[in-house]
Amino acid sequence: METLKSYVCGRWHEADAGFRPLVNPATGEEIARASSRGIDFGEVLEHARSQGGPALRSLTFAERAGLLKAASKVLREHRDELLELSRVNGGTTRPDGAFDVDGATGTLAYYGAIGRGLGDRPLLVEGDGVQLAKTEGFWGRHGLAPRRGVAVHVNAFNFPAWGLAEKLACSILAGVPAVTKPATATAMVAVRIVELLVAAEAFPEGALQLVCGGTGDLLDRLGAQDVFAFTGSADTAMALRDRQNLRETNTRVNVEADSLNAAVLAPAPSEAAVDLFLKDVVREMTQKTGQKCTAVRRVLVPAADAERIEEALVERLARVVPGDPAADGVTMGPVATAQQLEDCEQGVAELLACTRLVHGEGRRIDGTGAPAGKGFFFPPTLLRADDARGAAAVHQREVFGPVATLLPYDGTAEEAADLVALGGGTLVTSVYGDDMDWLGRFTEGCAPFTGRIYIGSEASAEVAPGSGIALPQTLHGGPGRAGGGEELGGLVGVKAYLQRVALQGARGVVEELLVPNESE
Ligand code: NAP
Repeated sequence: METLKSYVCGRWHEADAGFRPLVNPATGEEIARASSRGIDFGEVLEHARSQGGPALRSLTFAERAGLLKAASKVLREHRDELLELSRVNGGTTRPDGAFDVDGATGTLAYYGAIGRGLGDRPLLVEGDGVQLAKTEGFWGRHGLAPRRGVAVHVNAFNFPAWGLAEKLACSILAGVPAVTKPATATAMVAVRIVELLVAAEAFPEGALQLVCGGTGDLLDRLGAQDVFAFTGSADTAMALRDRQNLRETNTRVNVEADSLNAAVLAPAPSEAAVDLFLKDVVREMTQKTGQKCTAVRRVLVPAADAERIEEALVERLARVVPGDPAADGVTMGPVATAQQLEDCEQGVAELLACTRLVHGEGRRIDGTGAPAGKGFFFPPTLLRADDARGAAAVHQREVFGPVATLLPYDGTAEEAADLVALGGGTLVTSVYGDDMDWLGRFTEGCAPFTGRIYIGSEASAEVAPGSGIALPQTLHGGPGRAGGGEELGGLVGVKAYLQRVALQGARGVVEELLVPNESE
């Protein structure tokens, strides 16, 4: 059995105790073990601060962008190997593994591309300059400087490649060294990625370290210049962000957490919009076995359309084949761990207090191609609650698997937006319709409660990629329960690692120190 190592202080560290097992979720077989026992986290931070930070800051934005582009190429060259590890350790089908791995290479490449235009200055310029007195003798402009600390990245189990890459791309481009910690249960892909990047000398020494296993006292050591970026459940986020040192020093904290995303069908949609809606809902329920923070959990349909939509969804969900991704014909893998399986069963049981089962068993099944009784297989499960407002658990309980609830509503934009808002803050809301007046009122009502609104209409049906993709060009993150964080979104994600400073003085002086970016 493989023992996963951490990459810290310029060497690979193998623990000798405190191991947690990693299993193949399709068979339950133990395949690796991980522990961070023996790591001195003070040394890890010192290594990043004294070596990685200065080395990155000695490069220009454009040069750091070049590193990201090269890193993307390294991962692309090892795509097949990473997809295989994703299957073995994450239970993913090939397309589901590709969603994670290609997302990682694509995001690195994107930041490699936009970083090239940022030029060779130490401070990034933000916005226009402004005259602050009677003459240009007193002028102001904002600049952004790399923070002098370390970025600690803690990631969720469901995106071991993309989660690592989307955070790393932004911190490296900003000039801030990173310590990345994958979720232990599915760490094999992340470990291999770091092995590949270290072997390729993709980044200066100290710019990327990997902690495999627990974080020990790492978070207690963070301070004013550091950034702590977390992705995972809202409960863990709450426990981790509430540290005294983080509060006292105002460590920058970014949280990406749970989300009860909604897909909303508007009244009288075009056939193209309905088709896209059905395709998206089924994909977002079953891709990565529903283990996506952006997956659809609540499906809002006008009451008048509820029966035909339910029928169409059931018909499509019945075609999904859960099983071992190594077996022919399987279209959906297991959930990633025994704990996730237990949580799915428990979650559906809780939702059934205010819903009824429309499709799927709502509990473990045997998977195609897997031995009976083995593997963490959970079927696509559709629930329905006719009292959409009264179904409190549906708006509060995230079941992190292929589970969603159909919620008929009265067809008004205002009611649809209010129901979305009951989720307490979401990452994405998808809406399908063609009536601009309705869409306008829905958008206005829903915008404060969600990070992204994906609009499916006749005009976008041909090319819309699905609501679950977090594209690097636009914001990923959401208010309230979703964590309140902001990632990606072009330079939005990079700015999390930069310190904004207002420069004031004579116009000529300010403009010589803050030269506009080439890309402006
Ligand atoms: P989780 O149990 O909260 O764990 C997330 C990460 O936190 C893991 O790396 C975990 O490490 C670490 N962690 C847990 N306790 C810790 C502690 N005391 N100190 C330091 N680190 C600690 O979440 P998960 O089960 O991996 O992921 C599923 C959840 O993530 C879902 O709720 C999903 O909605 C959310 N998610 C959100 C986004 C987003 O972008 N908003 C993306 C993906 C997932 P170990 O594995 O070693 O315990």
